[in-house]
Amino acid sequence: MFCDVVLRESTRAFDRSYTYAIPAEMQGQVAVGSRVQVPFGGGSRLQEGYVQALKADAGSDFYIKPIQKLLTPRPVLRPDQLRLAARMRDRYICTYGDAIRCMLPAAVTSIRGKRTRMVMLTDPEEAQSILNDGAIDRIGQVRVIELLLEYGSVPAIELMAAAQVSRSTLNTLAKKDLIQFENTNLRPEEEPLPEDETELAQDLIPNEEQEAALAQILQALTDEATTAGLREFLLFGITGSGKTEIYLQAARQAIANDRSVIILVPEIALTPQMTARIRARFGTSAAVLHSRLLPSERAEQWNRILADEIRLVVGARSAIFAPLANIGLIVLDEEQESTYKSETHPRYHARDIARMRARDHGAVLLLGTATPSIESFQRTESGYSTLLTLSERATDAELAKTKIVDMRSELAAGNRSLFSRELAAELREAVKNGHQAMILLNRRGYSGFVLCRDCGKVIRCRVCSVAMTSHARQVAGAPPGQLKEQLICHYCGRINSIPTTCPNCGSKRIGRFGAGTQQVEELMRKEFPEIRTLRMDQDTTAARLSHGELLASFINREADVLIGTQMIAKGHDIPNVTLVGVLAADLMLGLSDFRAAERAFALITQAAGRAGRGDEPGKVIIQAYNIDDFAIRCAAAQDYLTFYQEEVAFRRQLRYPPFGSIAVATLSGQTESTVRERTQLLHAALAAHRRAEQGYGDIELFDATRAPIHRIRGRYRWRIVLKGQSAEQLAAFLAPVLDRFDFQRLSRSIDIDPYQLM
Ligand code: ADP
Ligand code: ZN
Ligand code: ZN
Repeated sequence: MFCDVVLRESTRAFDRSYTYAIPAEMQGQVAVGSRVQVPFGGGSRLQEGYVQALKADAGSDFYIKPIQKLLTPRPVLRPDQLRLAARMRDRYICTYGDAIRCMLPAAVTSIRGKRTRMVMLTDPEEAQSILNDGAIDRIGQVRVIELLLEYGSVPAIELMAAAQVSRSTLNTLAKKDLIQFENTNLRPEEEPLPEDETELAQDLIPNEEQEAALAQILQALTDEATTAGLREFLLFGITGSGKTEIYLQAARQAIANDRSVIILVPEIALTPQMTARIRARFGTSAAVLHSRLLPSERAEQWNRILADEIRLVVGARSAIFAPLANIGLIVLDEEQESTYKSETHPRYHARDIARMRARDHGAVLLLGTATPSIESFQRTESGYSTLLTLSERATDAELAKTKIVDMRSELAAGNRSLFSRELAAELREAVKNGHQAMILLNRRGYSGFVLCRDCGKVIRCRVCSVAMTSHARQVAGAPPGQLKEQLICHYCGRINSIPTTCPNCGSKRIGRFGAGTQQVEELMRKEFPEIRTLRMDQDTTAARLSHGELLASFINREADVLIGTQMIAKGHDIPNVTLVGVLAADLMLGLSDFRAAERAFALITQAAGRAGRGDEPGKVIIQAYNIDDFAIRCAAAQDYLTFYQEEVAFRRQLRYPPFGSIAVATLSGQTESTVRERTQLLHAALAAHRRAEQGYGDIELFDATRAPIHRIRGRYRWRIVLKGQSAEQLAAFLAPVLDRFDFQRLSRSIDIDPYQLM
């Protein structure tokens, strides 16, 4: 017997399947999906690979080496996953190995056993004084120390997630002897599981609209005749209309039909509340894959899925690769979310992978949202997808009343506060009545950036071409409220002190410009001393082990007002919230990106959906300077269809998705002249290829330019943007050129269908 093997590590030039002989003692054990070790190349270096197919004869390959070793007793990949890997390889211009690495949890191939690596401070007192001296100039390192000061010892994996740092940050701190590691058998608390399947919660009785939507989905789920085609639905339902109930009932039906189910949710929605809701309905036949699982736990869940013990997988982006057999239903909740797009190579979108898998399995694809992406809504118009609408809330809660406040007229009336008079009055009223409020501002930090009012200089990061953001940090060990203001680069984490004179012209008129969440919190405390506030953004969630904790204390009414970035707008169901304020709503539109309007619309709508979910009607106040903006007007009116009509016309005219696709090739390196020259050479190669080959005449190839952020961590970045008919066309056009091109030592990144062009 022989088999085809693809390699885990390879370059595109060598990335194909290779024939190997299966030695007699491995006959019957090696199967499609087996993880094997094979000798490769002239030196027969041992490499890890995966069996793609078994075959009786070796074909024209006349020198065949045998498989060296079977690395895992049972196959680690299902046949359809290998087919998916082949498709991803073409679609994202990556290797089989790149695609397969998305499908295998790290622990399956590296870590063994259930030992957990714990991290602790070597000397907490010393660490605290080093922190107070400002001797650490990387925000990631500061966060790690702060977390350890608060929590003692923490599993490394959790610490890295909470502090948003990589392993190398921990290693750096260990080298400085500030932290140490210890392996233990300690496992975090398990979620309690319902003991008995009879205790599982019942489905709710669907209302009329839910019933109508479910009928169509259930029909498709049982409709064996059409399993070959793709059955796709867009469930367009306002917040609180009971979409989740539909997902759960459809999932129950699919499972009853002996099929399995994947439900994808944005990472931020994987709260304990959500987990509990799934657990209550499906018990132990469901697996919840959240980012706080330890690698060993993730591997364990993954093995249970592969062993067919799990019928329902709920998880964030990467759960789309779960090795389920016979998938009958795939759900993407909040399908427009940017977190479904991978920011690392291969830059896949979970919605595209979901479509590929659904087609392969004959599964129903159900996209749910209150604010559909333009792409997904357009598919319902062109007949690729069926629109299901929920226009009413499932409970008695009324939709919130929205109002736009013109901040220019506030200014004209002498109100220089961040809060309009109306928002201020409503805030006081809400709190007086024992209700809670949320204030949304889409900018982290204490304030925007630091600017010289004489020469206009903005303080930028030394190694990244971005303005540094001012943050006030609590001085560790000092009484609460003793803050120290610093400048932080959001790209590389570098910390600087705030200059007192302009480094360019020497002027003393240098100061903060614009407001961030931190400043909003401080101003609220000044203007409304009686109101208790809580802040939630990337900075505060990094200072705790999870945003769940912050949220829990807000739900427990330990604060009256939750201030935050877009994080607070998403999916949190807090009945006592009656007021939502959106500050500087037009700030989000300033970005020169084709999706800016769509994002702003979605964010404002979601924020509005947070108000008045309980017995009290909600109120939403949207503050803006440019109150005539279309996206803001439509969002305030909760009018998606009007917004869609305008936006889709703009997309069509400019051939933006879904009427065309965009690809971006970015090169980066230490020396700008080399990066520029290589990018220009690549541009010339692409132009020559377009002339030489048939079928690419309509591809627009834009000149090589500096990337919008042209330097990150000291590396210069140049890029080429292309526009074409479809992602497939662009990938087919780019692949042969990129595979042959000499990038020398430069890093490259290829993004087909980027989420944004920034
Ligand atoms: P969405 O996912 O659309 O935001 P949810 O599914 O979270 O909405 O539902 C909002 C609220 O309405 C939840 O508290 C849910 O329990 C309740 N709900 C949903 N469907 C029904 C129903 N058919 N009968 C009663 N309550 C329902
Ligand atoms: Zn100056
Ligand atoms: Zn930087």
